[in-house]
Amino acid sequence: MDPTVSTDYDKAGQKLLQAILAGNDHVANRETLGPTVPIQLFQALRLIGLGSSIEQMVGGGARALIYQSGARVGQVLGQAVLPQSGKDLPKYLQLIRDVCLKLSIGQVVLEGNNNAEGRLTLRVDECVSCAGISGVAAPICNFEAGLVGGLVKVFVEREVRAVETRCNAVGDRTCGIEVHVLDHVRA
Ligand SMILES: [Zn+2]
Repeated sequence: MDPTVSTDYDKAGQKLLQAILAGNDHVANRETLGPTVPIQLFQALRLIGLGSSIEQMVGGGARALIYQSGARVGQVLGQAVLPQSGKDLPKYLQLIRDVCLKLSIGQVVLEGNNNAEGRLTLRVDECVSCAGISGVAAPICNFEAGLVGGLVKVFVEREVRAVETRCNAVGDRTCGIEVHVLDHVRA
């Protein structure tokens, strides 16, 4: 067993991830309801459970916490698929894209890779969290920015900062995320 697995959430999460990566979408104890749920349930969990409720509990630091939870998911997922990528960025992104499509998270597209400046721009079309949401003042996908940041961090083995620059919820029709490699050494 992975020595980093310690809590019940860790154990449950690892089992879930193994099933996802193995392509096993059978869910026990769901004989009549099956393995899928409406996107609006996910959005309620994401925007209220992992959004406004955290804001109510911790106030101003909520978005940083939500970003960090996404980053944790991104790192766990990234570490799981990295060995299959052969450390090749297009292959790595393809593996991530496949998982995101399979789970209906969204369509991940690499828009730009500025190696000299240590900056990567991605977008998530049809983002599971913000598609269909509107009327907010600023992007709300801090979890997803963290997720993408965590994925990139695993690949580049550097600290990164990811910022959501476009969001369906502010009318951008996609979710754009810019990742900066923090200790990038200019070529
Ligand atoms: Zn968004």
